[in-house]
Amino acid sequence: MYRTHTCGELSIADINKEVTLAGWVQTVRKFGSITFVDLRDRYGITQLLFSETLNVEMDANPLGREFVLQVKGGVNERSNKNKNIPTGDIEIIVSELRVLNKSAVPPFTIQDDTDGGDDIRMKYRFLDLRRNAVKKNIELRYAVNRAARNYLHKNNFIDIETPFLIKSTPEGARDFVVPSRMNPGEFYALPQSPQTFKQLLMVSGYDRYYQIVKCFRDEDLRADRQPEFTQIDCEMAFVEQEDILQMFESMIKDIFKEVVGIEYNEPVERMTWEEAMWNYGNDKPDIRFDIKLTNLKSPFREIPEKQQLAAATGFNVFDNAETVIAINVPGCSDYSRKQTDELIEWVKRPQIGMGGLAFIKYNHDETIKSSFDKFFNEVELGFLTDHCKAKRGDLILILAGKEERTRKAISDLRLYMGERLGLRKPEEFKLLWVTDFPLFEYDEEGNRWVARHHPFTSPKPEHIEVMINNAAEIKNADKYLEHPYANIKANAYDMVLNGNEIGGGSIRIFQKDLQQKMFTALGMSQEEAQYKFGFLIGAFEYGAPPHGGIAFGFDRLCAILGGSESIRDFIAFPKNNSGRDIMIDAPSTIDDKQLDELNIKLNL
Ligand code: ASP
Repeated sequence: MYRTHTCGELSIADINKEVTLAGWVQTVRKFGSITFVDLRDRYGITQLLFSETLNVEMDANPLGREFVLQVKGGVNERSNKNKNIPTGDIEIIVSELRVLNKSAVPPFTIQDDTDGGDDIRMKYRFLDLRRNAVKKNIELRYAVNRAARNYLHKNNFIDIETPFLIKSTPEGARDFVVPSRMNPGEFYALPQSPQTFKQLLMVSGYDRYYQIVKCFRDEDLRADRQPEFTQIDCEMAFVEQEDILQMFESMIKDIFKEVVGIEYNEPVERMTWEEAMWNYGNDKPDIRFDIKLTNLKSPFREIPEKQQLAAATGFNVFDNAETVIAINVPGCSDYSRKQTDELIEWVKRPQIGMGGLAFIKYNHDETIKSSFDKFFNEVELGFLTDHCKAKRGDLILILAGKEERTRKAISDLRLYMGERLGLRKPEEFKLLWVTDFPLFEYDEEGNRWVARHHPFTSPKPEHIEVMINNAAEIKNADKYLEHPYANIKANAYDMVLNGNEIGGGSIRIFQKDLQQKMFTALGMSQEEAQYKFGFLIGAFEYGAPPHGGIAFGFDRLCAILGGSESIRDFIAFPKNNSGRDIMIDAPSTIDDKQLDELNIKLNL
């Protein structure tokens, strides 16, 4: 037997027991005739004490960091206790030592505060995974996985595997493809998600399906994306949107309770996509803090006259802008010139892309000062402050410009100010359902409509006629917002946690004709639709039940619950920002023989 106990479990209750432990050398500390070694395994650290002959032997054969040891000895009460670790009251007086394996000097220290940079830790990820900080994340991931499975099992869902070598599933990204040796010139695609398979399973009668499953999307990797990531993928038959929202908000609440001990008892807030965009400038608003936008001018929606910016103010920045939006930042009216300059610089950064920032200070003594005093007299400023429903002490920040960019920028500024003021508390979890997404999205490049979620999402029943009775063609690209398709809403929903989209899904189209019309609206000919999705349309001829589902971003959910910004920290073997696994050095070239077998000629 290699060990009788782990390195994390011995305590005062075990004094005088003879034990055998095995693990890795964390540290070696020599003090003349005795040597202390901290031995580590997955469960913790136990102090070993070597004296007499063993201590002498160690001079001849010194132990190094990360050597693998097996030791036998007696459990002894420590005189110098360490309150910081569970085994801190005891140590092992070692009577027998076996070095099971040596270790080269690790390229970084295996500690919480390691000296290893990102690249080196990724290259030696198997060592990085020994660190407590990473291990905690991997354990948390398993806890989320277990809680999700328990919940779904309790609710009659069954886990059904779906294939990885498939035909393209459109989820808005590029496919990874795999050449088929047995079918020269043909390729499989790796699934962007199991979407069509889970729908087929509904046709097959497995009315509650789930899978914690890898998905593959060949996207340009923004900071926190991975080309392969994991979803908690679910589908249900005979359900309406409300059934899905109820089922899955309970799942997330269960996960909160099981994994981080949070009882989330209140119902999850809901808002439509339009409300989210209008009030927060964003379809995944962080509602942990209450700053909302004041829309002073916008083509997005009609603004009641009372709240509009006066038609022409003489201030070009406002007069010439398509959109003017403000936020009130509480308690910041006393910002100094330096601080407002900082904010101006912040909005001018290329990521935000605004030309400038206007502001109004509604001071505690009720005076009002603005960065555009030259153009607005006191009464006009007073009106504007009223429009914004500002309170004394508020700093009103105003952005003006093109609709889309301005809305995005004010949303980013809102988050930035929330962060600056400490309003985005990491220990607080706030869930939100965003519903009624647009069915279509305008694709500027192709001057056409694309599915905002995916082509299997059903339109709201009251909008089906509009879709069927209007051609998809966009005659005037500048006026695409006036096309009837722009206002068609979908039975689609996202779950948002602290400003992050953690899940999204929809009620699906289950009638063959409507699905066919949807493909037509997306600019697909009958033949193309048949070639790509014939299997699904065909299945819909054989009694497809009404169905819908959702998928949660498992990696992201883990990262948020673990209080981290980065999903990579929660994936055992992640890829870097260029999609490389630098530990195994992938992707890599393959040899000519392999290429020949696949009938592939490189054109580099
Ligand atoms: N397949 C969808 C996605 O990956 C989720 C769903 O509609 O269930 O976003």
